[in-house]
Amino acid sequence: MAERVYDENGRLIFTEEMREEYTVLIPQMAPYYFTYFLDAAISEGYKAELLTTDDYALIHEGMKYSHNDICVPAMLVIGQFIDALKKKGYDADKVALVITQTGGGCRASNYIALLRKALAKAGYEHVPVISLNANGFEPNPGFKVTPRLFHKLHDALVFGDVVMGLVNQIRPYEVEPGDTDRAREDVDKMLEAYFMHKKTFTWRRHTKMTKRIIERFSEVRMKPLNKPKVGIVGEIYVKYSPLGNNRLEETLEEAGCEVVVPPLYDFFLYSFDSRAHDIKRYGGPWKERLALRVIVAYIEHRRKKARKMMKKAGFAVSIPYKALKRLVDGFIDIGTHTGEGWLLTAEMIDLIKHGAPNIVCTQPFGCLPNHIVGKGMIKKLKKHYPESNVVTIDYDTSASKVNQNNRIHLMVSNAKRRLQEDTRETSL
Ligand code: SF4
Repeated sequence: MAERVYDENGRLIFTEEMREEYTVLIPQMAPYYFTYFLDAAISEGYKAELLTTDDYALIHEGMKYSHNDICVPAMLVIGQFIDALKKKGYDADKVALVITQTGGGCRASNYIALLRKALAKAGYEHVPVISLNANGFEPNPGFKVTPRLFHKLHDALVFGDVVMGLVNQIRPYEVEPGDTDRAREDVDKMLEAYFMHKKTFTWRRHTKMTKRIIERFSEVRMKPLNKPKVGIVGEIYVKYSPLGNNRLEETLEEAGCEVVVPPLYDFFLYSFDSRAHDIKRYGGPWKERLALRVIVAYIEHRRKKARKMMKKAGFAVSIPYKALKRLVDGFIDIGTHTGEGWLLTAEMIDLIKHGAPNIVCTQPFGCLPNHIVGKGMIKKLKKHYPESNVVTIDYDTSASKVNQNNRIHLMVSNAKRRLQEDTRETSL
């Protein structure tokens, strides 16, 4: 069995030996993306599994082992990990956990410490915890984001954005129920093979795969219906995770809406760009700033191609990162980086300006940064864009689904009424 090694601060290291023997458990935080992250990790030789348990009651497991003041996303992720260790038959001597660490001013930077504390309390202090971050925190010899893995994660993000955009634009209009989900299953299989292939790196393969994805989804026949578009914005975890947001996408689709969710890649670009911005404003290594700017420009260049192909096939696409950033001029300073910062406000403006003025702004209860850049901006948005129809939903430890749904349905009925009025006006 792999020997346990600790660093000078007493942190249990994930060693190369452990990489051979251990299964790395990954919490499912965003279904359109984490499936492909998993493919990328497995193709690089990791034994990895996604935790897909999605019962909100998991939060009680998280609450048992952590302070009740911590953020809802942390409680859910900690609860999901401990539930898996206790009940899902894993050998606790052969698993490691991986969690993202943002490195920003928000409490998310400390989730890892909270998780370790909770594990110790639950009797699992011997389970290594790996930090996935872009800042080089807590290095582990058994887990390295090599250039090859970095590229694969990049591809996974671009494909995740493409697949999410296509599913959301097609499924509400499908002629044959289940056709879109079947296309998604086929695409997931195609992507699994894509990541396992040795030549993942080449641009040509990436472009070819994007084309195949769009072609497969274009086979789904669609009805010419007019449905209200509803955007989802908010704190990163509750925005993308069905466990965190009580299956919000499903609720909205069932209520007769087309869901619009901004691409996850914008959040990563925002994180890189925020660091570059801070270096410029407060000082820091110019080389790092230059590297970050190059990374952002390179990623945008690669995303441009996918956008172009989707547009050509008749689908709506997200706007470039730079254009998104410009939208907040006069609304909020681009130095606002805590939580989702100015990006959340920018996403709401983008949705309002591009046909989805109906928005659900999701926020964990007590998430101060997002209350400021989300809820706090609604009055100003309403003043500039009277057509905006934003509802803020808190996700809490004792969240009542009925209460959340009532508020969401009220927003949806307003959206439907307006759509009818607009259609009537256009036909006159
Ligand atoms: S963004 Fe909100 S929920 Fe997330 S860590 Fe910060 S305070 Fe907590």
